[in-house]
Amino acid sequence: MKTVCIMGGGLGGLMTGALLAKEGYRVTVLEKNHIIGGGLQSFRRGEYLFDTGMHVFGGMGANGQIRRICRYLGIEDSLDIEPRCDTLMDADTGERITLPFGREAWTKKWSRSFSSKLHVDGIEDTIKGYLDRMYDITQQEPLFHMRPTPEDYVLPDTSTTAKELIDGLTDIPLLKAALSYLVVFYGGHADSPALLHSLISCAHIDGTYTFRNGSLAFAKLLAGVIEAAGGEVRNGEAVTAVDTAGRRVTAVHTEAGTYTADHYVSDMPIARLLDMVPEKAFSPAFRSRIGSAPYTMSAMTIFIGLKPRTLSYNREAYFSGHTDADMWRMEECAEERWPNIVFALPCEDKENPGYASTITAVCPMSYDAVERWANSRTGHRPDEYYRWKERMVQQAMPLIEPIGFEVPLKEAIAFIDAGSPLTIRDYYGTPRGAMYGIHRSSLNPMQSSLSPHTRLGNLYLTGQDVNFHGMVGTSLTAILTAEAIAGHNVIVNKINDTIWKQ
Ligand SMILES: Cc1cc2nc3c(=O)[nH]c(=O)nc-3n(C[C@H](O)[C@H](O)[C@H](O)COP(=O)(O)OP(=O)(O)OC[C@H]3O[C@@H](n4cnc5c(N)ncnc54)[C@H](O)[C@@H]3O)c2cc1C
Repeated sequence: MKTVCIMGGGLGGLMTGALLAKEGYRVTVLEKNHIIGGGLQSFRRGEYLFDTGMHVFGGMGANGQIRRICRYLGIEDSLDIEPRCDTLMDADTGERITLPFGREAWTKKWSRSFSSKLHVDGIEDTIKGYLDRMYDITQQEPLFHMRPTPEDYVLPDTSTTAKELIDGLTDIPLLKAALSYLVVFYGGHADSPALLHSLISCAHIDGTYTFRNGSLAFAKLLAGVIEAAGGEVRNGEAVTAVDTAGRRVTAVHTEAGTYTADHYVSDMPIARLLDMVPEKAFSPAFRSRIGSAPYTMSAMTIFIGLKPRTLSYNREAYFSGHTDADMWRMEECAEERWPNIVFALPCEDKENPGYASTITAVCPMSYDAVERWANSRTGHRPDEYYRWKERMVQQAMPLIEPIGFEVPLKEAIAFIDAGSPLTIRDYYGTPRGAMYGIHRSSLNPMQSSLSPHTRLGNLYLTGQDVNFHGMVGTSLTAILTAEAIAGHNVIVNKINDTIWKQ
């Protein structure tokens, strides 16, 4: 039986491991944290359950990519998920709009709302044209549509930016701002590719979901696939060094021991991997490419526990922002007027169905805001940092409070906790606490997509730094990585076979 050692037990590592386990490989996953999952980690505070880095995701509709993968892995029936809808709130005017999912319903609701507000003809055509264009752009990524990658596959054209795509549709600033709200799911800047915007937006508009019993449950399902095939997932085992000889990895070290395998996969941030391999293992050009890569925005996450039966639960996911917020620089603003925008997700109280038990609010923030405490560690930060964090939480609350329109949110809150960009940096090991790994830019396509293959014949890359991030992006990259080992299109063809047999 061929063996694979995977460094990092986040979504990328676990999904790659599960796919390879299905292919008959014996997989060992080494995860530095005591809880597996990386961004899939959940934590409990008393009775309250919070997700840390996987709040909503696409790909779970009847024919969605993640649902198909789960069916192939045999874990579809164990998924405990529910659909969500988006509610956009203007924090200054109090206006709100709730968008249903599905291409047609989404278009109709936007059109009705804008037609009555702006009294301009042709809004429905503009929005429809926007969706058609985005769905067209996604055709460049065969795997997004679960199509095998042709031998003569040409890398997608990423020269058009998302901002150009939206600016080209309309001159109406309000419509442009509204159509760009999903930028929050990739931390877009003016140079972000239209391809990235289209993949994220289409996956979301086709239907977005949340885990009812915490995202960690999904990590455990993937770990279960690995273990059922004779593999193991070892938490609390940080990789400290990777040995190489010639163009091959020969061993991986943790403080607890040494691991050898036929193949090695890294799900760690690529910058972290480069710190662990001998200098000569990678070319100076590759090191400089990764060393100079820009990172996506970070965030402050606010975890709110609610008193029982105070706030009703309606499956809405809230985007709350200031009218004048620049969506292409949403994390950048003067500290005293932070945040520009907040994504807030209430979750249902299992004991009291119909009521929310928690709200998790992800507030885009630049890592620059915490750089002054960069040398501190979790649990050992200076008092000044905690005072600053408390101030930032209070500043964000006016954007979260409108969620409690039927009851003043302040009266419903049992406790508030928060994590800063330093928390993300230290838990996941991501440089600059980047939410979505390396920033993709139309100006620098070379940095925007890496191959799962490396110059070391038995070392492969997976995870959000390689290609795309999030539930859909990281999982599709996992297929590419697993196929780099198991064979071109081997897995995608089997996933499609599973569908046809239904
Ligand atoms: C606050 C926040 C909210 C988000 N919300 C969403 C969302 O709602 N929907 C969505 O689709 N995406 C969301 N994302 C993005 C999503 O979490 C990531 O794209 C995804 O989890 C990336 O998976 P990964 O495996 O590439 O990385 P990770 O999940 O970071 O996994 C990497 C793993 O490597 C481990 N590791 C690092 N160094 C070592 C070492 N030396 N030895 C062993 N292990 C090591 C880490 O501990 C980690 O477990 C969010 C991210 C953040 C930060």
